[in-house]
Amino acid sequence: MKRKKKTLMILITGMFLLTAAGILGGIKIYRVHKAHQCGIVLAFDDYNAQSWEEHFDLFDQYDAKVTFFVNCSEPTDFCYHAVERGHEIGFHTINHVDLKTASADEVYAQAIAPIEVFREKGFELTSFAYPFGSYNEELNELLLQHYKVLRGAYHYELVGKHQMRNGFVDSLPIDNVKYSSDEEFEKRIDEILAELDENTGAIVGLYSHAIGDGDWCVSEKRLEYVLKRAHEMGIQFYTFKELQEN
Ligand SMILES: [Zn+2]
Repeated sequence: MKRKKKTLMILITGMFLLTAAGILGGIKIYRVHKAHQCGIVLAFDDYNAQSWEEHFDLFDQYDAKVTFFVNCSEPTDFCYHAVERGHEIGFHTINHVDLKTASADEVYAQAIAPIEVFREKGFELTSFAYPFGSYNEELNELLLQHYKVLRGAYHYELVGKHQMRNGFVDSLPIDNVKYSSDEEFEKRIDEILAELDENTGAIVGLYSHAIGDGDWCVSEKRLEYVLKRAHEMGIQFYTFKELQEN
């Protein structure tokens, strides 16, 4: 009887240790997987609230969280709706000003003062996209005292996740006008996704403005191509903020 009890105790202890090891191992695997996961930071600039909001369901369909770099002086209804759906509100100046040619006062009023206005209404602006992709080192230095990440608007750039925590990162436009056909667009996207897939923990920034058929928009068909292909390949869509907190 005594022996039976001892055997039972050993068995229970063993099972407990195995379970604990399993959970810890699981956490470690999850962490490694998270660090290795590559992704896209997809963004939309300016202020196209209606067009963006009409596509919230499409983003959900492919588990895509995106960043909207808005031009407005204070949070609008759209900003609240976007955050409720898991997206990020980033900033793009109040009036889409070219900061390189603006005075110091104007830079402050357009890009820095609004941070406090948004904060008072519950928005922590930590990501900023330069209007016209226009920037210089001096602006980077100044704005990085107020934002975590500053985004450019011209080039394809494959970066490591750690580079998304702080500093300047570029981003590739996916506006309709930049690609002569759907085929050319899809070919470029396939190349980008393949490169992401080969590079552990790599991140690429893509952006457009509204969703539709205009020149400076991305068509619904092309947008869905990006969302669907990435989703199929297990490439994740991150907001800028998510990677800053990573
Ligand atoms: Zn813009």
